[in-house]
Amino acid sequence: LEANFSVIQEDDGPINGLITVLHDVTEQEKIEQDRREFVANVSHELRTPLTTMRSYLEALEDGALSDPEIAPRFLNVTQNETERMIRLVNDLLQLSKIDSRDYKLSFEWADFGQFLHEIIDRFEMIAQDKNIEFTRKITAHPTYVEIDRDKMTQIVDNIISNAMKYSPEGGNVIVTLLHQGHNVRISISDEGMGIPRENQAKIFDRFYRVDKARARSVGGTGLGLAIAKELVHAHGGEIWVQSEYGEGTTIYFTLPYSTFKGGEV
Ligand code: ADP
Repeated sequence: LEANFSVIQEDDGPINGLITVLHDVTEQEKIEQDRREFVANVSHELRTPLTTMRSYLEALEDGALSDPEIAPRFLNVTQNETERMIRLVNDLLQLSKIDSRDYKLSFEWADFGQFLHEIIDRFEMIAQDKNIEFTRKITAHPTYVEIDRDKMTQIVDNIISNAMKYSPEGGNVIVTLLHQGHNVRISISDEGMGIPRENQAKIFDRFYRVDKARARSVGGTGLGLAIAKELVHAHGGEIWVQSEYGEGTTIYFTLPYSTFKGGEV
């Protein structure tokens, strides 16, 4: 804590008072520390795929290229690592845009139930590999909310793809939409391994992963939920998690409903 004192005095008159401004230095330090950590994380996340690519390219140069068995596999690894870096850089650019307020949401009215059905239809196509079932508990009542379609798609995509990534084979993912006072509430539940209580608050932080090795092997950047959080807030909503370790995870978010002009159409 830092203190600044100012004396309140009219010309050479008597001293009328003293103002003390207490300034929270720890807050400033925290921001600085977060920034340093962020840069260290970005560097690490980029270095890992780059060093992997370097060693595979070296192996190709040292002869693997002429081996018809090995060459395509090694090229495939370098391609995957490139894809991973592109995803990471895209996520970083998006967060940086959000941070600098250099973006505008273009809101339009959408029937949110319909919107969710379309997203789930798309995920059902790719979920077949892992034998994942989707259960839709979506109110049949038309639920018009104002959303930026692209951004909202990204929010829901990030949450559903996590639910799928962390689901066991044959798991069930439940998507719920209901009205709750002045909000609509969306939830996405899975039957995956869950998140220990002490880690739950942190999953919306940038680069936070409960299990780094596993998260990386399933292809995450550690930024998906951080982006979802920023974008939900930009829509005037809240996002949170409820999870039982070993049993499953539910991500909830809300969107304002009747507070928007028109509310229900
Ligand atoms: P990632 O790209 O690593 O998935 P996210 O920001 O999307 O990053 O999520 C952060 C971390 O939260 C994940 O690495 C994982 O540890 C945890 N997590 C997110 N969703 C789930 C879920 N449905 N089940 C279990 N853990 C999850």
